[in-house]
Amino acid sequence: MKDATRAVRGGRSPGPDPRFVNPPVYHASTVLFEDLESLKGTAKLRYGDGVSYAVHGTPGTYAFEEALAELEGGHRTRICSAGAQALSGPLLACLAAGDHVLIPDAVYGNTRDFAAGMLARFGVSVEFYDPLIGGGIRALIRPETKVVYTESPGSQTFDVQDIPAIAEEAHKAGALVFMDNTWASPLYFKPFEHGVDVSIQAVTKYIAGHGDLVMGAVTATEAAYPQIQKGWYHLGLSGSPDDTYLALRGLRTIHVRLPRHWESGIALGDWLRARDEVEEVLHPAMPHDPGHAIWKRDFRGAGGLFAFWMAEGLSSAAQISAFCNRLELFGMGFSWGSYQSMLMPVNPRRTASPWPRPGQPKGQLVRVYAGLEDVDDLKADLDAAFAAARAA
Ligand SMILES: *Cc1c(COP(=O)(O)O)cnc(C)c1O
Repeated sequence: MKDATRAVRGGRSPGPDPRFVNPPVYHASTVLFEDLESLKGTAKLRYGDGVSYAVHGTPGTYAFEEALAELEGGHRTRICSAGAQALSGPLLACLAAGDHVLIPDAVYGNTRDFAAGMLARFGVSVEFYDPLIGGGIRALIRPETKVVYTESPGSQTFDVQDIPAIAEEAHKAGALVFMDNTWASPLYFKPFEHGVDVSIQAVTKYIAGHGDLVMGAVTATEAAYPQIQKGWYHLGLSGSPDDTYLALRGLRTIHVRLPRHWESGIALGDWLRARDEVEEVLHPAMPHDPGHAIWKRDFRGAGGLFAFWMAEGLSSAAQISAFCNRLELFGMGFSWGSYQSMLMPVNPRRTASPWPRPGQPKGQLVRVYAGLEDVDDLKADLDAAFAAARAA
């Protein structure tokens, strides 16, 4: 089966009435058992193998998890109530005091702060590495390295990581490879074909797709899954029934929405790159980008999130304010992945690799998210904002 069919058909084990296409929403805490013998069987059930108590999942949870696991190409998926939990949960599940974890320098801000904060406080040795290190990660791996975390392309700076090369070295040392796969979604990067053991999704973004919920999901290989599931049980991670319903509804059309985000992102990237106000565009799916070769080798498509460098002469605080405040169609705010376009200035934090890299522009970096509006309207909005910046 192809992805479009998987997105439509996945997680469709029949509910109580198979005539209805969508699973019912169970608002539940308690689940009653038919007899004492089946209640006594719950030690097995709490590991996510059936309905026992609503924290561990309702039929709606399992339908969504099943559909997502199929799309990601992993053994099983578990959900939680934010993307932020989908990165902290598996790290807590797989690390202990004395272990060493490698985190890419271009990682999502919350992952950086969680690792440097709580993980370090619990006695885990946290080391950040240059996201472009590839097989050179070998030199950083120690006997106590348990997890090599990846995120590709990296948040804000869109560095494409050589996941197969990193995975090869990590596996030689017996370490697990985690990947935050939110940018590409399960459609455009197949983590388990490239050596990833644990794939992280901020469901909030493309899977939910409509800006109306926060949720996270973690998919694992058969070998890594028991440790993840145990962590889910210990931490009590779960997702709300209504949000899970909406997330599954979003997933059903992801293959229709994503190509448009990809196409509009490229159209805006090309248009921006031709402007005098723009120094350079950071977008791995554009041929000029340093990450393009690996993107082309490993990815099946691109999301609508990228960045551009405003020219240095247009990057004063007043000019950037004038630019952002003139925009009408591009919203400003955190998050992305819904139907609406967004834009905001970003200031990447790096501790293990230079940024900007030598030879890169020095103006303001601006992150753009191409939504589902008409792309000519989006260009006109940007055009007016550039005029406002020039006049400031
Ligand atoms: C948004 C995001 C997250 C966190 O998701 P939330 O649901 O907002 O907590 C994690 N990773 C990446 C790459 C993200 O963009």
